[in-house]
Parts: sequence; C-alpha cells; structure tokens
Amino acid sequence: MLFGHVTIASADIIDQEGVNIGCSENCSVIANYNDVVRTKDTFKDVVENNPNVFGCIVVAVALVGTIIILMMNRNKKKALYKIINIDELTGVLTIRNFKEKAKKILQTANENEYVLISLDVDNFQYINEIYGYEKGSNILVDMATKISAQYGRNALIVREKNDNFLILTKNRAEIIDNKELEIFYDNIAVSASKILGKTYIISMSQGKYVIDNPSEVIEYMIDSVHSARNLGKTIYGNTIFEFTKKMRKEKASKNKIVTMMELALKNKEFKVFYQPKAKMDDYSIVGAEALVRWFSDKSTMVFPNDFIPLFEENGFITSLDYYIFEAVCIFISENSKTLSIPFISINMSAATLLDDMIADKLTKITKKYNIDNRIIEIEITESAIVKDVEKAIEKIKALKKAGFIIALDDFGSGQSSLNRLKDLNIDVLKIDREFLTASLNDEKGKIIIKNIIRMAKEINIITVAEGVETKEHIEYLRSLDCDIAQGYYFGKPMNEQQFKELILNSNDKVNKTF
Ligand code: C2E
Ligand code: CA
Ligand code: CA
Repeated sequence: MLFGHVTIASADIIDQEGVNIGCSENCSVIANYNDVVRTKDTFKDVVENNPNVFGCIVVAVALVGTIIILMMNRNKKKALYKIINIDELTGVLTIRNFKEKAKKILQTANENEYVLISLDVDNFQYINEIYGYEKGSNILVDMATKISAQYGRNALIVREKNDNFLILTKNRAEIIDNKELEIFYDNIAVSASKILGKTYIISMSQGKYVIDNPSEVIEYMIDSVHSARNLGKTIYGNTIFEFTKKMRKEKASKNKIVTMMELALKNKEFKVFYQPKAKMDDYSIVGAEALVRWFSDKSTMVFPNDFIPLFEENGFITSLDYYIFEAVCIFISENSKTLSIPFISINMSAATLLDDMIADKLTKITKKYNIDNRIIEIEITESAIVKDVEKAIEKIKALKKAGFIIALDDFGSGQSSLNRLKDLNIDVLKIDREFLTASLNDEKGKIIIKNIIRMAKEINIITVAEGVETKEHIEYLRSLDCDIAQGYYFGKPMNEQQFKELILNSNDKVNKTF
C-alpha cells in the first residue's frame, strides 16, 4: 500500500511519510525510492549536461527506425511485385508481366524468329470437380515445371488463367516437333495420374502462332493463338493447330464487321427482304419470311450467314432482331391500307428469345405501329431452344399469350425431337431444306417425313416445307400432304418494292387464313 502510494508520490511526500512511520525497516524502502528519484534526476542531469550524447541517441533511434521502415517497405514492395508479376500457384509469370516482357523481346525480333504457343488440358474442370481443387492445383504446378523444362530458361511462360499456359519462345524446329511434343504430353499425363492416384487419360490442345509480324499488338497474337488452339477442342486426343493465313484473313474480316456493325444499324444499312410462302392447294401467297440483308454500300449485298453467326457470338444479334422486327412493322403499317399484307414471319435468335422482356418489347413495337400481333409469326430454331429449354418454353408461352404465331424453324437439321413438339406448343413446323431433299430418293426417309407431317396435323400444327425449288419438289410435297411451301420455285427473297408488286399482282389470290 505504502509502496504503491510512494511510487506515484513526489519526493517530499516520501520524506514526510517516511518520518511519520519512523521505523528502521522503512529506511531501506525510502533509500530505494531516493535511489529511484535520484536515478531519474541523474538521467535528466545527463540529458541536460550532455546534449550531444542525447542528440546521438535520438539520431541513432531515428536511423534504426528509418531502416526498419525502409526494410518493411522493401518487403512490401517485393510482395507486391510478386503478386503483380509472378503466378502465386506455379511460379511462372503473370499475364501482365508476360505482356511487358514479350513486347520488349519482340521490339528487336525478326520475322518468324519467335513462336507463341497456347497450351491447355482438355476438360480440366472435370479434374477439379471429380478429384478436388488441391489435386488440380498440384497438376498445374507440375505442368509449369515440365513446361519450363521443355522450353528452356529463355522462354517466357505464363499461366494466363486456369489451366491455360502461354509460351513465347524461339521458333526452333525441335520446339514444335510433334514427336517430341507427344513425349512431353505423355510425361505430363504420367505425373497427373500419379497425383490423382489412378490412371487418368489427359489430353492437351495446343495452338501455335508463328510471329511473322513482331510489331503486331500482343493481344492480337494471344487471341489468334487461342483460336488456333480451340480448333482442337472438339477433337479427341492431343491436338496441335497452327494459326494460318486463312484464319488471319477470316479474323480480319470478322474484326472489320465488328467495328462496322453499330454504325451500320444507325445508318440503316440492314434491309429486310421478303420471301413468299405459298399454300400447296392453290399456290396462293399466304405469308412471307423476313430475311435480313446488309448493304455496306449501295451495290454490295452481304448475306446473313456472313454476319449472323458473328452477331450471335458477340451479342449484337438481339439489337438486330429487334431492329428487323420494327422494320417489318413499319413496312406493314405503311402499306396495309393499300395492300393485303399476308402473315409475315420474323427470325429470332436464341439470345433474343431468352430476353426476359421479349413479349413486352415486341408488343410495344406492334402497338406503336397499330399492328395486330396475330399477323406476325416468330421463327425460332431448336438450337435456340436447347440453350435453355425451360426458359424457352416460358418465353414461347408469353409470346403466344401476346398473340404471336410461333414457328419451329429448321426442323430435322439438328437435335430435332418429336417429343419437344408437344412441350413447346408451337403453331407451325418448318421442315428443313436438307431434311426434305435428302428424303426425296430415300423410301425410309419418305415414310419418316410423311409421318411427321401427319402427326403434326393431328395436333393442329401447320407444316411448311423450306427450299422448294422444282416441280418435282412440289409433287413430292403434295404426296406428303404438306400445307405450305417456301422456296425459289415461288420466289427468291426480294426487296420491299418487288414484294409489294408481287402482292399487288396476286392480291386476288391472297388468302389471309391458313
Ligand atoms: P432460314 O431462317 O432457314 O432462312 C431460309 C434461308 O433459305 C434463307 O437464306 C433463304 O434465302 C434460303 N432459301 C429459301 N428458299 C431457298 C431455296 O429454294 N433454295 C435454297 N438453296 N435456299 C433457299 P438467307 O436469307 O441467306 O438466310 C440465312 C439464315 O440467316 C436464315 O435461315 C436465318 O437463320 C438467318 N436470318 C436471316 N435473317 C435473319 C434475322 O433477321 N434475324 C436472325 N436472327 N436470323 C436471320
Ligand atoms: Ca427462318
Ligand atoms: Ca429455316
């Protein structure tokens, strides 16, 4: 108690209390406290009496502190450098570092001196899913080691993402020798099996891009080598594909299309052509299919197969589908007073069909032009439906509820299933051109098509045959009891003006009821 009190007391109070206690055993305590106080005073004295010593101590402490801070910063910087430049899992480069280093190397490189390689394991995600991520990671670490050994110290190696490695190396024959690569791949597969604890057949896809123009942007090269690698993705076993001149040309034209598409839409370069559909019993025109054409200038007409697949890839197709839909509505509203416009069918790609608001958006457009939804048919393909069957069924329902007619396009061209006809609740079945012509000289095929048409009729589905070109086709379709035909025999896709003239000439024959 006294001790505690004294420790916080001033020297005077200690003296007083010491006297008051008046006991000899307290003398040593007091003496000790005096020592403490004296020591404090001594230090103060030292400081006051030796300002230089004190200054030195302060400087030394500051110096040590600065060194510690610098070292900490250095370590932090080192850690940061590692995060940015080195792949944490495998120790190879990160993509950022790879690009920087590759750019430097290629600045002084000659044509064809270097080659870029893209390498990945086929279906690597299965390894992760079945054997766990840890084992998957171990395989990647092993791959990185083997790639480094295979391509040597001077190669730049990066794990771009997941199991995809990129390698920039000198274009030496042995580097891309197929036999040697097979051995290299086998080594990776053997190690992978050891890691997984059982024999696992691993196969690799490799892309190769010989850098014939080192000044090209690195992103272009990477993109190109990936597209070469992806060519092997649907082929079983190890594959090696090189980025060829033909692929370069195709890529250039693709890039050109992508840079032009938005502006083309704004500049109204996409035009609708109409192809008539005729009833089989009296050849009257009962409908027409709207087919897009791209006029990048007045005289060059580009066909949909040259740009639709690309638009489907990059998502632009939805904008185009809505644009074509509106263009058709404008055509109908401008001409419906003077002409008897038949049913018009419009193609919708998978992405547009699966748009949550498709029925509302289309109805908004038809309302704007005062058009009855019931004269518009929406053509969708099975390939669009299989992307998300449940959602497709839901959207088809919504479109039907809004009054649109639904046609299933290209039936017989892909994964056609009769069962699906029942689930989809479609109104029209369009039989694919290839399916129809293939059955022409094939008795079994004939029986299949005949029965498909009969069955469709029984469940109130109208049948339309595509690609009808000859009298022979017509007779065949009659024998099959098909309802409607579309094809060059009745007319090729034509521009608005030609279509208007066709309707005008055949107006007396036009029958707007199927
Ligand atoms: P599709 O929907 O199957 O359209 C029928 C295609 O067959 C059209 O090709 C048409 O010109 C062609 N064709 C018609 N009759 C005959 C014939 O008797 N013989 C031959 N050999 N061909 C015939 P097109 O216009 O080149 O269109 C190709 C595809 O592009 C269309 O196939 C459709 O899938 C797509 N497409 C066209 N316009 C649009 C559009 O606005 N939106 C979407 N998403 N796709 C469209
Ligand atoms: Ca179609
Ligand atoms: Ca078709």
